[in-house]
Amino acid sequence: ETNFICKLSHRQNQKTNQGMEKKLNNNNIELSEYIVDPRTKTTYLKGKFLGKGGFAHVHEITDLTTNKIYAGKIVQKANLTKSHQTEKILREVEVHNLLEHKNIVRFYGCFEDEKHIYILLENCPRKSLAHVLKKRKVLTEQEVRYYIHQLVEGVEYIHNCGVIHRDLKLGNLLLSENMEVKIGDFGLASHIVKEGYRKRSVCGTPNYIAPEVLSMEGHGKEADIWAIGCIMYAMLVGHPPFETTTLNETYSRISNNSYCMPMNISESARTLIFRMLKSRPADRPDITEILQDEFFCSGFMPTTLPPSCCSSPPKFP
Ligand code: ADP
Repeated sequence: ETNFICKLSHRQNQKTNQGMEKKLNNNNIELSEYIVDPRTKTTYLKGKFLGKGGFAHVHEITDLTTNKIYAGKIVQKANLTKSHQTEKILREVEVHNLLEHKNIVRFYGCFEDEKHIYILLENCPRKSLAHVLKKRKVLTEQEVRYYIHQLVEGVEYIHNCGVIHRDLKLGNLLLSENMEVKIGDFGLASHIVKEGYRKRSVCGTPNYIAPEVLSMEGHGKEADIWAIGCIMYAMLVGHPPFETTTLNETYSRISNNSYCMPMNISESARTLIFRMLKSRPADRPDITEILQDEFFCSGFMPTTLPPSCCSSPPKFP
């Protein structure tokens, strides 16, 4: 009953695999250099450490039969002491498994051994836009056009699938080898059952929390739009719009919609940010309207960016 994969397939109304193999090569597990999927016997080599999240350690993992490199999210079962923690990972896998788009981190599958759950994801070797912004402080408007356009295309796809991400932030926007944006971490994502239905539960605290989420009016697709507004602002200005030294002060600024807009930002960028940071969720554009916004045709939009942009500004012709 504690078996993660069993729970997952139960929820998907599939027949559970009664004979799920439990025999493990203990030597390999203890050394943790090699990882074996006990069901398929596929062997993976655990490589470079990529990052650490709430429950997971993320490492490069190479499938030794194909030599394909994944980002493997490794969760220690011993850390999942409360049922809502397992629930969160189940939901993450369930939601992520439905999604396939060029701007979403691709989900390749998951397996478990006695001690760990492994989630195989598309490897994004250039880290996240949080890393880029930390190095660069601010980005050029051309880059922002490039990144936000890809973010919006990814979010349009998930919204059309009936999924809200609920925790869009720079750290969840990963970069592929060739600098494409890949939205990751579906740990807080939720599947909307009906159009107009609003999730009232808040499990975990989104980074760029929208006013309607703070006031417990519920969480719809508009909260993702709010977060995109915060991300775009942070890229152009160098810090998030409602950032202060205390959480209470930040929350009060969010509720009062109190933020400053520097005038060195172009008018089309300012206008789009204003539209996304409207207090009333219904006043914000939906994701498809954003794609049609003037900002995206008001100046040069690169089709690709060189990896040097991770640490220094690009020189466009
Ligand atoms: P959690 O859901 O536990 O918070 P995250 O998904 O945020 O874990 O992952 C933690 C860190 O691991 C990220 O900040 C990032 O640096 C790294 N990471 C996650 N997914 C990938 C990936 N697909 N490719 C490369 N690095 C990743």
